[in-house]
Amino acid sequence: MRTNLFGMSLAELQQLCADEGMPKFAAKQMCDWLYAKHVDSIDAMTNLSLKARARLNEIAFIGRHDPVGCQVSKDGTKKYLFECASAVTQEQQYVESVFIPDGDRGTLCVSCQMGCKMGCRFCVTGQQGFHGNLDAADILNQIFSIPEFDRLTNIVYMGMGEPMDNLDNVLRSTEVLTAPWGLGWSPHRITVSSVGIIPGLRRFLNESQCHVAVSLHNPFAAERLDIMPMQKAYPIAEVVSLLRQYDWSGQRRISFEYTMFKGLNDDTRHAAELVRLLKGLYCRVNLIRFHASPDTPFKTSTPLSMERFRDYLNNHGITCTIRASRGEDIMAACGLLAGQRVDS
Ligand code: SF4
Repeated sequence: MRTNLFGMSLAELQQLCADEGMPKFAAKQMCDWLYAKHVDSIDAMTNLSLKARARLNEIAFIGRHDPVGCQVSKDGTKKYLFECASAVTQEQQYVESVFIPDGDRGTLCVSCQMGCKMGCRFCVTGQQGFHGNLDAADILNQIFSIPEFDRLTNIVYMGMGEPMDNLDNVLRSTEVLTAPWGLGWSPHRITVSSVGIIPGLRRFLNESQCHVAVSLHNPFAAERLDIMPMQKAYPIAEVVSLLRQYDWSGQRRISFEYTMFKGLNDDTRHAAELVRLLKGLYCRVNLIRFHASPDTPFKTSTPLSMERFRDYLNNHGITCTIRASRGEDIMAACGLLAGQRVDS
């Protein structure tokens, strides 16, 4: 079986060079072609010897592939559909990524799993079940293979899947984005989200400097359990206790995502409990308008209740903003990614 060079680290490429009798410096040259110059063919690596390129073509390939679909929102947001080489089942082998242009900023929201095991009741992805992990190459391909690659300023791991449930591949992908031999990005251009799987989150906090976003959605344990089954194994109070063990006064940031559901989590009682839960933690709360999908029993909070909630938090020492909603008309907004092919 041929090896996929795309997604490999410098150390792995050095091992490949050693195994194939190629000079060690060829690994650095390959990284340069793969990541800085983002070529998608071995023949384009013109400073490798012809013999080395011929051998590489025999034993390896560059697993890059273009999106198979793109929908464009009236607000300029683009939703890309990718086929996944790492699919383990035939019926679900697509994931979606969302490019969000905003002035000088270009943010890409990437997926890390086909479907998701977490089963959050308000989330379209969560209702589909789990169909497999993406490997690092399939995560990175979403970033490297869109036409807007050169405009990207930020990556958020907030698409389909729970990053802490596929942590090895997520960390491999962020290493390529941040290492000097990779894209050389600051980790502070990358945010990785989680519902709060404590073992994974702890490891991530110890091994990465990327920003972290925790999906909170309700500060009361019993009410949170109603919408997020993972609350049972990893209560939000324990997640916050873990986060308190780290220093958030530097450049790395922790934020909490709080999707607002009418009548469920949007009154003063919830705001007051949220203040109590997060008191003294250097953090930010992002309020997200719920995007109702067909068949959901949940309703969208009114703009007024969202503003009141935000003001309560800000007045009680918790920095809080209402996140602008993007791409709702193409089902690209938070919680709406389904990874389904739309034939047009
Ligand atoms: Fe999974 Fe995130 Fe959806 Fe929850 S909200 S089911 S963690 S994709």
